[in-house]
Amino acid sequence: MRHPVVMGNWKLNGSKEMVTNLLTGLDAALAGVEGVDVAVAPPVMYLDLAQRLISQGKSKIILGAQNVDVNASGAYTGDISPEMLKDFGASHIIIGHSERREYHHESDEFVAQKFAFLKENGLTPVLCIGESEAQNEAGETVAVCARQLDAVIKTQGVEALNGAIIAYEPIWAIGTGKAATAEQAQDIHAAIRAHIASFSAEVAKNVVIQYGGSVKAGNAAELFAMPDIDGALVGGAALDAEGFAAIAKAA
Ligand code: PEP
Repeated sequence: MRHPVVMGNWKLNGSKEMVTNLLTGLDAALAGVEGVDVAVAPPVMYLDLAQRLISQGKSKIILGAQNVDVNASGAYTGDISPEMLKDFGASHIIIGHSERREYHHESDEFVAQKFAFLKENGLTPVLCIGESEAQNEAGETVAVCARQLDAVIKTQGVEALNGAIIAYEPIWAIGTGKAATAEQAQDIHAAIRAHIASFSAEVAKNVVIQYGGSVKAGNAAELFAMPDIDGALVGGAALDAEGFAAIAKAA
């Protein structure tokens, strides 16, 4: 039985005050919420503060991060290693987000390298895949997702997906307020799972596939009611404690 995961991607947002208020509020708002893993990915600058707040309150919130690099140490200015993330208690690491693919020109192969490096270090990759609006209109959605997944599967074996999280995020739905309908998302999630099943039915059955793209309290329940949607990766709505907790409750 798959366990849903709701994760907040805070992107380039935050201050010490905001992180303190958001995590304190979220902790209170999540009281009594069971059956879902709730994670947040603040900017790395705030991991120390977030870790301290979470452990003080003995919170169930899982700490994550928005990126990782492919080197362990050395002359790589600005880079962050898996060991550094572990040092601050971050376990769920987003890779391959469309914003990084677009603005930082990250290729499928580079994202796959990050995936392998996280697994090697005992961290949970949250692998984002998804198509652009033009690819969607051209009917290429499943092919794009399969290509992005194959960069991992064909180099590391399908078993590499065990314990990892896949986030299907149609780019046209991210930050636009225009979420995929529950039926649209379910169709693609089922196709993604079928693609993985063509390599291993067992891996496909167990892998968590989140939906991401304009998820909010108002549309979360119908998305999560779908058999192949196992939680969500949430951007904008994760910046509000009550709203994000309502999404988690819907899972
Ligand atoms: C995201 O960036 O991963 C995302 C899903 O953003 P939003 O929820 O704001 O669409």
